[in-house]
Amino acid sequence: MITITISGADKTGSLARISTLLVRKGFRLGAQQVAESGYGAKLVKISLDVSQVDKVKLAAELGGLNPDFRLVSVEGVQSGAPSIKEMAERFPDIAPLVRAYAESFSPETRDQELFQAGKKIGAFHYEKEWSFGSPLKMPVALRRTLVPALEKLAKVDATDTSITLPDSPLWGGGNQVNCCEFLTGFMQGFLEAGPLTNNARVQKTACRAKGDSQCTYAVSYDL
Ligand SMILES: [Zn+2]
Repeated sequence: MITITISGADKTGSLARISTLLVRKGFRLGAQQVAESGYGAKLVKISLDVSQVDKVKLAAELGGLNPDFRLVSVEGVQSGAPSIKEMAERFPDIAPLVRAYAESFSPETRDQELFQAGKKIGAFHYEKEWSFGSPLKMPVALRRTLVPALEKLAKVDATDTSITLPDSPLWGGGNQVNCCEFLTGFMQGFLEAGPLTNNARVQKTACRAKGDSQCTYAVSYDL
């Protein structure tokens, strides 16, 4: 959570206009308040549910809304996000770390970053735990390696071409950052690391964050 302070927002309705802009940019807003600056001018303070923001970009967007709006300060966590190595080492107990990692990115880039991190961790996990013995082909590899690996995280329902998590720990529950793309990457990296499964492609096809009843990933491959 970080708090931004904006000056030049004294006029009635300014806070509402700024909040609307932030929500449209994908930010989840926490507390909002108007404080006195000490010189009679008012300052708007808004908490954002992220651990990093692009100050220059945000200042430009606020200025575009009204040239009087000025971003005075950005306070709070600007770092402290876990590294990919830390997340990989904590598998399968990684949901809180993945969430902290996700919060360090802006909403526009978050899914892509989660996918890339998941991919590295999935490949690492395959090498560490599942690369021994003769390599398996699809769909046997899915059933004997990918599904058991995911079952350490949560309950999994699988077919030969789909993986469903009825209660994924990466789903934010509606009030936290949704991290389901981490698993798309995890599965993709895991399968790519296997010598006979590296042409498989994983895509998320349903997600509780989008109102679906469960999170489902389609796995496609050539036989
Ligand atoms: Zn989901």
